[in-house]
Amino acid sequence: MTAPTPLIAGNWKMNGVAASLAEAKAVAAGLDGVTARVALCPSATLIAQMAWTLKDTAVAVGGQDCRVEASGAFTGDVAAEQVKDAGASLVILGHSERRAGYGETDALVSAKAQAALRAGLEPIVCVGETLEQRKAGEALAVVTGQVRGSLPAELVGKAFSVAYEPVWAIGTGLTPTIPEIEEVHLAIRATLVEQFGEAGKSVAILYGGSVKPSNAAEILHADEVGGALVGGASLKADDFLGIIRAL
Ligand code: PEP
Repeated sequence: MTAPTPLIAGNWKMNGVAASLAEAKAVAAGLDGVTARVALCPSATLIAQMAWTLKDTAVAVGGQDCRVEASGAFTGDVAAEQVKDAGASLVILGHSERRAGYGETDALVSAKAQAALRAGLEPIVCVGETLEQRKAGEALAVVTGQVRGSLPAELVGKAFSVAYEPVWAIGTGLTPTIPEIEEVHLAIRATLVEQFGEAGKSVAILYGGSVKPSNAAEILHADEVGGALVGGASLKADDFLGIIRAL
């Protein structure tokens, strides 16, 4: 089974307007010699413009969420089919900001992953423990439980990745130690193999949470780290490229 191609994905969260596309263009222009897959995930309002701006470049575009249903009376929501139609090829699902802020459960994230597959989108499914859970020694149980509950059986053999994002490391400047990251990534790998057999070996497991140019090399070279999901540092092309180039 081949090792997964590393993926470095930027999550712009609720940031960015049309003028910000200059940063996306600068990322695309700085990828000479880069072998990793690179993606940027802007707000839904920017997906189409970003996809247009980045067409014929090596940067893929992703959404940050999708609804389970393909269409209907769901004011303000976006269907996976619409995310795809706007020009995205990936979608982030189950980000901790959605799990915490909108009560998204593993079952809902799993249903969203099925919707993403239906629409032809590649899911990036996020998991991660809170600080309380880590302090209580529950990190591995929480994360492997989220992996089991959030990844539907239909994903077997399909392109998708899992992002381990400790909730306490997101946007805080704090990161787990390298052995802590490796311990969780190894546990996720074992769970993926348990769930998907051989196919579980070729799923990229990304790390996310306060990745920046200065810590990217050691994180990206840790065992079973197959890339990164980057929030704040993906908003500026120079920072994001610094992370990509650390691989
Ligand atoms: C994220 O929200 O996915 C994230 C990793 O954020 P940050 O890099 O800003 O911690």
